[in-house]
Amino acid sequence: MTETLAVQTARTPEDTLKRMRERLKGVVPDVELQLKADLVFEINRLKVERNAVILGHNYMEPALFHSVPDYTGDSLELSRQSAETDADIILFCGVQFMAETAKILSPHKTVLIPSLKAGCSLAAGITAADVRLLKKWYPDAPVVTYVNTYADVKAESDYCCTSGNAIAVVTHLLSEGHRQIIFLPDEYLARNTAAELGLDFVLPPVLRSEEPVIGKDPTIIGWRARCEVHEKFRPEDVHHVREQFPDVAVLAHPECSPEVVAVSDKTGSTKQLIKFVRDLDAPQYLLLTECSMGDNIAAENPDKDMLRLCSFRCPYMNEITVEDTLDALRNTQYEVSLPPEIIERARTPIDRMLEIR
Ligand code: SF4
Repeated sequence: MTETLAVQTARTPEDTLKRMRERLKGVVPDVELQLKADLVFEINRLKVERNAVILGHNYMEPALFHSVPDYTGDSLELSRQSAETDADIILFCGVQFMAETAKILSPHKTVLIPSLKAGCSLAAGITAADVRLLKKWYPDAPVVTYVNTYADVKAESDYCCTSGNAIAVVTHLLSEGHRQIIFLPDEYLARNTAAELGLDFVLPPVLRSEEPVIGKDPTIIGWRARCEVHEKFRPEDVHHVREQFPDVAVLAHPECSPEVVAVSDKTGSTKQLIKFVRDLDAPQYLLLTECSMGDNIAAENPDKDMLRLCSFRCPYMNEITVEDTLDALRNTQYEVSLPPEIIERARTPIDRMLEIR
């Protein structure tokens, strides 16, 4: 970590710009910092005035990520941290399912998201009705649901998991004697988890009228949804980068395909990828995940040479801007609200996951 002063505590717009330059030089052009500094100063002032806490997901653009959040990290970690603060308002700079998780963990707080367009192709790939159908097809199989889902899908589930603890959650269920486990909704995370644990993997039928597919014992039953960002990476992309940079450390998120994971050096959640970069000594690092995270790691580790495939920016994360964050605080918009019954039912699988260490 660099020893820069926190932008959040700057006392004037000029000081804000100075601290942003100190933090982000080499990553963000100065002209952009000049455009953003006044807005950042106003967000940080209003945040105190309104007793708000700002959460910044690892995929936020660097000028926002390094300037306004009180906490940064992955979605679950952020929601847990915000639940422990005495802030009246939680402003989640991330996508809708993340803000919903914050609401589930802090039902009595006002939770805001800066844009209504910040969806997610993966979360949109499954509905609560889909989960109910799967439970009918496989009545003995517990349902493990990735946190990248909407609250009504979590409410139908037995356990939640993150990309960092998926293996631990499935291992826990195997130790309890379960031989079939439904794992939703990301096909690639499910396939990678099955491969890591040596389990069979099947996809359920496409049509409701079909008979359910039964795999070999034990089996993970997946779903046909993918992250539209991570599914774009291909093994040949990794081979091309290695031709140009033979000693590059290739670090993949497990939402990438099993073929991409197979040609990578390490696989892990966003939190684990950040740690790999800090701990590994390599001439270059290639991150196979959302592009902004590479910029954010580069700003914190100026001595590390980060390579990025920046055709892969998440359009939903990209909806969250410094401008919208300021509007959210000024106008108390857009408030996340969930039915109390969904909050209560969605909380159970999250709590069960947190009990597994
Ligand atoms: S990176 Fe993928 S999983 Fe994450 S918000 Fe974007 S589309 Fe969804």
